[in-house]
Amino acid sequence: MTSLSLSSVCKAYGELVALEDVSLAFTPNCITAIIGRSGCGKSTLLRMCNGLTRPDSGEVMVFQQALDYASLPALRKRIGYAVQGTGLFPHLTVRANISLLAELENWSKPAIDQRLEQLLTLTQLQQSHLAKYPHQLSGGQQQRVGLCRAMMLSPELLLLDEPFAAIDPLTRMDIQEQLLALHEAEPVTTVLVTHDMQEALLLADEIVIMEAGRVVQAISKTRLLEQYPGQEPNRLLLSLMAGAGA
Ligand code: ADP
Ligand code: MG
Repeated sequence: MTSLSLSSVCKAYGELVALEDVSLAFTPNCITAIIGRSGCGKSTLLRMCNGLTRPDSGEVMVFQQALDYASLPALRKRIGYAVQGTGLFPHLTVRANISLLAELENWSKPAIDQRLEQLLTLTQLQQSHLAKYPHQLSGGQQQRVGLCRAMMLSPELLLLDEPFAAIDPLTRMDIQEQLLALHEAEPVTTVLVTHDMQEALLLADEIVIMEAGRVVQAISKTRLLEQYPGQEPNRLLLSLMAGAGA
């Protein structure tokens, strides 16, 4: 059963329609990529999923219940969220950034250390990184720290907003592989916002294509590759958008 779905969700900012009648059910323990041009509503959709943005109409169901805006703090413990540009606290060490939520949950020090160790291994960060501050790390390392922070409490849902967009292509490949390793070790329902079709095809099981606030396609990667064998990723994306608009 899906732990996350949206039904007929609409959202406007004044005259601007950011989401128009979006209905989606996310496949449990799979990675779903949300892909589309800049401004098409991807981040708005992601923020709907953890209550940071409220729909004007329609409903968001999380963990089989209509999202309860009165109990967001409790809910967000079960939802990992990583944003573009990492969103790390600059004045906190890497250790403090990653373990902050566990500290707030009163985890014991051994429990925190054990979870840190697991996450560092999976994302190929070193113990020596823990004492550093975010600005002392490379962009790619910061991104991994953001991923560790989002995964610290073993959330049931993981929301990633263009997590690798600002990273050079080679480092991005490393982190993409680490995300896959992390996902294999700890499968969790993941929504990955990206504008990169190559990334979507590499990481995702399901692909959702958006254009101007609407979902124009929601299709499994397997079916997509069957239907369009051997297409270059961006051409594939364009033909899917064109096909849907026709
Ligand atoms: P994407 O993540 O796909 O680039 P967004 O979801 O951030 O797109 O934005 C969708 C549209 O809604 C854009 O036109 C954006 O300018 C607008 N928008 C997003 N957030 C706000 C906001 N808080 N106030 C006004 N307009 C917004
Ligand atoms: Mg965005």
